[in-house]
Amino acid sequence: MQPLLEVKDLKKYFPITKGLLGRATGYVKAVESINFTLLEGETLGIVGESGSGKSTLGRTIMRLLDPTEGSIIFQGQDISHLSRQKLRSSRKNMQMVFQDPYSSLNQRMTIGQLLDEPLSIHTNESRKNRMEKVAELLEIVGLNPEVIHRYPHEFSGGQRQRIGIARALAINPKLIIADEPVSALDVSIQSQIINLLMDLQEKFQLSYLFIAHDLSVVKHISDRIGVMYMGQMMELAPKNELFHEPLHPYTQSLLSAIPKMDPEAKRERILLKGDLPDAANLPNGCPFHTRCPMATSICKEIKPAYQELKAGHYVACHLYDAKYKEQFAE
Ligand code: SF4
Repeated sequence: MQPLLEVKDLKKYFPITKGLLGRATGYVKAVESINFTLLEGETLGIVGESGSGKSTLGRTIMRLLDPTEGSIIFQGQDISHLSRQKLRSSRKNMQMVFQDPYSSLNQRMTIGQLLDEPLSIHTNESRKNRMEKVAELLEIVGLNPEVIHRYPHEFSGGQRQRIGIARALAINPKLIIADEPVSALDVSIQSQIINLLMDLQEKFQLSYLFIAHDLSVVKHISDRIGVMYMGQMMELAPKNELFHEPLHPYTQSLLSAIPKMDPEAKRERILLKGDLPDAANLPNGCPFHTRCPMATSICKEIKPAYQELKAGHYVACHLYDAKYKEQFAE
C-alpha cells in the first residue's frame, strides 16, 4: 500500500497574547512534533483526553489551521504552506466529518442543497446529474432520497451524521478526517455509524483518520492507533499490539479503564493521580511525569525520545531506553 498522507514533525502553537498590542507572551503547544504515515485504504485511530491536541491535529492536517512548523504531504504533494486557492484541488480529496453535524450543517439549507453544494463547487456537472448524485449519496448512507426537501432539524442525531458523511463523500475523497464522529450519539447508534464508515471504506477504498477520546470507540474501525497526550504522540502501534501489549504507562491506564465484557476477567484499574498539566506551561521532561505511576527523577528532567521499539510500534518513554534502565530498577 502507498502512503496517502505523511505528517512530519508537525507543530501547531497558539500564541498567548497580552496588552493592547497583542504581544505574544507564550505559546500553547497544541500539537508538538507529530510524525506518522497513513496508507491508502487504512484507518488510523487517534485517541486522547480532551485537550490532548487530537482535534487541532486533524484541523491542521486539513489546513483549517495553518501549521506552525513541519510538513503535511498528501498524495505526494507538500500542502503545508499552499495558498487557499492552490489548496482547493487537495481539499477535493480530503474531507472532514465533525462531531456535531447539527452545527456543521447550515440549518437554513435543505438536505438536497447541502449535498449539492460541494458538487456545484467542485464539479461541472449539470443540475440534473447533480440531483441524481444527491439521491445516490442519500441511498449510500442509508437514507431515503425523498428527504431532499427537508431540513437538518427534522432528523435525529444519527441521521444528521449520515447526512454529514454523505456530504463528505460527495466529491469522491481519498481521505476522511473524522473528528469524534460518534461521541454525541447513543451507544447503539454509534455502532451503526461505525459500521457504515467501514462499509463505505471498503466500497470506495477510503482512508480514515478517526479521532476519538475513547479507545473502545476506535478499536473496531482502526488498523493502527496513536495515543496523544498534551499535544504529543505517546505511543503508536498496530491495533492488536496496542490492546494486548501496551508499552506506555498512559496507554496502559487508558486501557485499564475499559470495562471487560467477561466478569471473570479482571484487569486492574490504573488510577492516575494529579491533574493535567497547564497546556500553556508544560512541565520539563516527559509531559506525563506529573501523573505517571512509574515516573522517576530522570522523567522530570529529560524528555523521552519517540522511537520505534519494534517494527511499527513507536513509544515515547524512558522505561524502554537502555540508557535509563537502571533508574527504573531501583
Ligand atoms: Fe512515565 Fe517516565 Fe515513561 Fe514518562 S518517561 S511515561 S514519566 S516512565
